Amino acid sequence: MTGPAGAPGHRLVDLHLHSTASDGALPPADVVVAAARVGLVAIALTDHDSVAGVAEARAAGERTGVRVVTGVELSAMDGDCEVHLLGLHLTRVEAVEQRLAFFRDGRRARAEEIVRRLAALGIPVTMEAVLRHAGGGAIGRPHVARALVEGGWAADVREAFERWLGNGRPAFVPKIRLTSADAIALVHEAGGLAVLAHPGVEGTRARVERFAAAGLDGLEVRHPGHSPDDAARVATIAEQFRLVPSGGSDWHGTPGGPRHIGTQRVPYEWLVRQEERLAERGARERVA
Ligand code: AMP
Ligand code: ZN
Ligand code: FE
Ligand code: FE
Repeated sequence: MTGPAGAPGHRLVDLHLHSTASDGALPPADVVVAAARVGLVAIALTDHDSVAGVAEARAAGERTGVRVVTGVELSAMDGDCEVHLLGLHLTRVEAVEQRLAFFRDGRRARAEEIVRRLAALGIPVTMEAVLRHAGGGAIGRPHVARALVEGGWAADVREAFERWLGNGRPAFVPKIRLTSADAIALVHEAGGLAVLAHPGVEGTRARVERFAAAGLDGLEVRHPGHSPDDAARVATIAEQFRLVPSGGSDWHGTPGGPRHIGTQRVPYEWLVRQEERLAERGARERVA
């Protein structure tokens, strides 16, 4: 065993991962196999607006001994700012599947609008190419980016974002987004914990306080987008508002990319604290 998990008592998890069910490069089973290879004991599959990869991931988890937590990543608006919320430990996905499907449909309509804008800019990338890259998963800008790279209009995905697709760039189109309060409520309806993803520098005390009042359960403390200072600050804010910590690599399966599964070294103990939080809520609901 050469993975990060190492000795017992030092068990590690990764609670933020993407697969081909959204904009990841690897099928869900391959994500789990990668988790087993680096010695993780549990992962959460957190595809954008979709839980379609979870069944396959779970089956692979049973074969490899990796526990798979049902998750999703939602995009929400807080004022003018887009924030991402992870729903972790979902148990009632059927209660929210229709709404997730609505957001996935919105992603498709948005991709069509992006393609129209690109055409107006003289770039004849086709919707067919975008859909081929999406492979039936929830469509995102990375799929458009890959189609642009394939057509030779950008050297790589990063350049496609910088020139065309990124926030404020000429082919940028916003998604349909929930309010943050509605996103938190949706996660609760699905039986899960609502965790503010990669709060980074925008994870201010004021924002977290408002989200906590709306029922937020946790903060993603460890994420590759966080500096060591960010992680320390977010951990402190989590304690202040009695939110549980979470963390993950946000790995999209990209070969040679800067992120890799398991690298955030998230202790299994954090997953246990999340389950305790769920159990407390369950107990409160039974009393009420
Ligand atoms: P979307 O959900 O369609 O708005 O796409 C957001 C996804 O695009 C993120 O989850 C990242 O995977 C990816 N992404 C965002 N910004 C960039 C960037 N500058 N370069 C490469 N990928 C990016
Ligand atoms: Zn993504
Ligand atoms: Fe995100
Ligand atoms: Fe993500």
